[in-house]
Amino acid sequence: MMESSKDEIDQFVESNLSNFSINGSGWHSLIRDMLYEFCIAGWNLDEKVFGKEKFGGLRCYISSPDEALNKKIQEIKSKYIRLSGKTCEKCGKEGKGRCVNSWETTLCFEHYLETINILEIDNDDVKINDKYIFNIDEISRIEIQNSYGQMTLYISSTFTNNEKTFQFSRWEPNFYLLLNSIPQHLFSNKDKTYIKSMFENLKNCEICGYKSVFENRCLRCRKESWNSSLLEYYENKLEYLKEIQMDIFIDEDDNEKVRQLDKSFEKLPDHKFLFNDEELEKYKKELQEMDL
Ligand SMILES: [Zn+2]
Ligand SMILES: [Zn+2]
Repeated sequence: MMESSKDEIDQFVESNLSNFSINGSGWHSLIRDMLYEFCIAGWNLDEKVFGKEKFGGLRCYISSPDEALNKKIQEIKSKYIRLSGKTCEKCGKEGKGRCVNSWETTLCFEHYLETINILEIDNDDVKINDKYIFNIDEISRIEIQNSYGQMTLYISSTFTNNEKTFQFSRWEPNFYLLLNSIPQHLFSNKDKTYIKSMFENLKNCEICGYKSVFENRCLRCRKESWNSSLLEYYENKLEYLKEIQMDIFIDEDDNEKVRQLDKSFEKLPDHKFLFNDEELEKYKKELQEMDL
């Protein structure tokens, strides 16, 4: 086999980099490293390499009829699927697998946050991600969906005659703040009664520590409040609270980090996590073992 010169390798790497269909430049250095490793393994530089993002990982579809070379190629490919699963596709910083609009992708927290609508209400002005969208007075109609977990707002602008629609879901920070700011007369009688009763009857969430429980489930952390049906899975209330709190503390999917931006509910001043360091370490170990 002929040794390739450094120039030839560089040219191979740069020309094949554009054969990868990726949503950003965060994986460019990974792709370069991978292409370089293919060269070193003995890949024929005249053969193009194509690849793309799939399920949040870097995929590359090459193989070789040469068994020894093919084994090396497959090992390199697996290595970069693994590495890309921890690298933000947009910027290259440390990332995690995220589900964005039912699409799997690997993003750092910052770029993940950019995919979420963060609502803010300032003097009846509604903003999404710091951008003014409409004023509460401009809402002409509202539709509630998904058991009060989603709403479509119809906005009639006074400047133009078109009606715009915006959809919000409870996963988005300040969804409930917005729901609670909407003028009562826009709701149907049934919705009006339900929503009024929801905000008037909020109970304390012993899990996440906000006044956000309605009908035995927390509107904020989405967890079920302790009740006897959970005895099927947990020894007692304390064990349940500790385990769910540890999940929130570990925050594998950054849900709690996103919820920190939510001002819909009142924080309980005396709330504390009930687990100790030792229990947390033990629980983390158990989770790791389950992953393996
Ligand atoms: Zn990023
Ligand atoms: Zn909660």
